[in-house]
Amino acid sequence: MGKKKIVGTAGRFGVRYGKKVRAKIAEIEAVQKQRHICPKCGMKYVERVSAGIWRCKKCGAKFAGQAYKPGG
Ligand SMILES: [Zn+2]
Repeated sequence: MGKKKIVGTAGRFGVRYGKKVRAKIAEIEAVQKQRHICPKCGMKYVERVSAGIWRCKKCGAKFAGQAYKPGG
């Protein structure tokens, strides 16, 4: 099982990247903006603090996740 390394495409996407990549980035950004379910209290209050860091606004739990999604 290999770790999925997420390359910082968003920072350097330009004319070379096609529709597919942009759709992917849009998808990632949408996920980033979404609230996620807290593994601690089960409430949908988890927001992304920074890459890999997530925080629950409800119970204050801070935890590491993937860069763009909390948890596994
Ligand atoms: Zn919580």
